[in-house]
Amino acid sequence: MDKTPACVSWCRQVLAVVVFVSVPAFVVAQTSPQTSPSSSTPPRSRGQGEPTKADLLRGAYGPYRANNDLLFYHLDIRIDPEKKLISGKNTIRFKMLKDDTRIQLDLNDAIKVDKILLGSAPLHYERDSGAVFVDFAETLRTDHIYTIDFYYSGSPVQTGRFGGFTFGTDPSGQPWIYTACEGIGASIWWPNKDQWRDEVENMQISVSIPNNLVDVSNGRFTGKTDLGDGYTRWDWFVHYPINNYDVSVNIGNYQHFSDRLGDLDMDFYALPDDMEKARKQFAQAKGMIEAYQHYFGDYPFKEDGYKLIEVPYSGMEHQSAVTYGNHFANGYLERDWTGVGISPRFDFIIIHESGHEWFGNSITAADSSDMWIHEGWTTYLESLYVEYMYGKDDAIKYLNGYKSKVKNERPIITARGVNGEPPPDQYFKGVLFINTLRSIVNDDTRWWKLLHDFYQHFKYQNIMTEDVLQYFNQQTGMNLTPIFDQYLRHTAIPILELKFDGPDGTVSYRWKADEPMFKMPVRVGRKDNWQILHATAEWQTMRTALKKDDFEVATDLYYVNVTKE
Ligand SMILES: [Zn+2]
Repeated sequence: MDKTPACVSWCRQVLAVVVFVSVPAFVVAQTSPQTSPSSSTPPRSRGQGEPTKADLLRGAYGPYRANNDLLFYHLDIRIDPEKKLISGKNTIRFKMLKDDTRIQLDLNDAIKVDKILLGSAPLHYERDSGAVFVDFAETLRTDHIYTIDFYYSGSPVQTGRFGGFTFGTDPSGQPWIYTACEGIGASIWWPNKDQWRDEVENMQISVSIPNNLVDVSNGRFTGKTDLGDGYTRWDWFVHYPINNYDVSVNIGNYQHFSDRLGDLDMDFYALPDDMEKARKQFAQAKGMIEAYQHYFGDYPFKEDGYKLIEVPYSGMEHQSAVTYGNHFANGYLERDWTGVGISPRFDFIIIHESGHEWFGNSITAADSSDMWIHEGWTTYLESLYVEYMYGKDDAIKYLNGYKSKVKNERPIITARGVNGEPPPDQYFKGVLFINTLRSIVNDDTRWWKLLHDFYQHFKYQNIMTEDVLQYFNQQTGMNLTPIFDQYLRHTAIPILELKFDGPDGTVSYRWKADEPMFKMPVRVGRKDNWQILHATAEWQTMRTALKKDDFEVATDLYYVNVTKE
């Protein structure tokens, strides 16, 4: 459904790795092409340089997307591990928002369209750079609901950071088949309206696989049916709106165990040899959910339950079916992720990917340009987990560890309507920006209420930065617009310029920033006795008993640079 409120997701978990290679994904992204030579889709600009036609068709909310509102998918497919083949159909129900004869869907050019039916009538269609334009013989009427069956078959290309769709094998040689297609897009393996703004209200997923295998998809498991031909169909039902890229199959020789947190079902899947490690490591999921529920309210997908599923790549936030490949060890791929001694206390992938259930899956950006709403916020959730478990000092220390990863080379909000990925700063600068907001609010009781109410206000919706800003301005009574714009839409962070006049005992100060109206309070002086400076872009002067070298700025509470002269 179109969950967009007033104005207008890849996890692309930045930290995930190319399968079996222990290198953070953003490093990979900068050094290797996103699209393998085997892909039949033209290489994408990924947000840098001139967008390709495919980027524009995928990224824009064009007229043949905007003329309808998604209601429901039933993805019903058979997956043959030997032939590496998918075949089946997606039943798509949508409501027309205006009279028209054409809609836009998407399917990677490597996959064959077998037929598209309205009832029993075949529909004409035209394929162009990953888009499939479906034409109707008669005008579809505003407010009327239509259902089409999109039949397809083929072998998906394995491409991009996570493989998109991978026919793999586990260490014992059994098939291990999994999806991770944020960015590349779900249309790499199934036909859908492949954009972020409009989501179905709920979804059925039916996956037929050889009898000896298990499929774990999103939502609630509703049963399995022996088809009598060596295949079994596994049925799942998603009771909530879901991103296309979150829709997943995880097929393998999985074993299963379960737990409960209050009335929330928690289900865990791992390979037989890893069950013991999984039982131990996945116990962290309870504390994680308790922490996030403390700050934001109930786990968003209770009807579907929470699942954690072993995969060979580092992880992905697939809604209610989070995938996990962090070696059953704390830290991120056994490293101290923010380098300050706190990350080794917990399993980074459980904490980060599951945080996306609140930011990314429940609250979703309406355009990948504003993906910091997924990643900046979820990175902030990591620090909230630390704060819940170990206190504020450790949380501030943990998130300041991200400073060394910030590049400040491009703004973290990118061009709207163009398929692409914002830079990794959306994570690291994102969390430092949100921590700065907390210091501006300067009242933790108000801050916790603001965070809780912000989440509750926008849950299950697709929003843009304008919505976040408007809400924060309204709730705080402050004009945060120049601050949001400086951190999110400019490359540089603000610089607090200080000029000391020793004999006079004064210091002059101002902000140097791209936003002409930039002003922000900041704590200065001595750590045990901060005073708040209401600095603007204009020079002001105040008396200080402190010498230049003793005059400190609380740069762990505000992400700013400081110059002194
Ligand atoms: Zn993420």
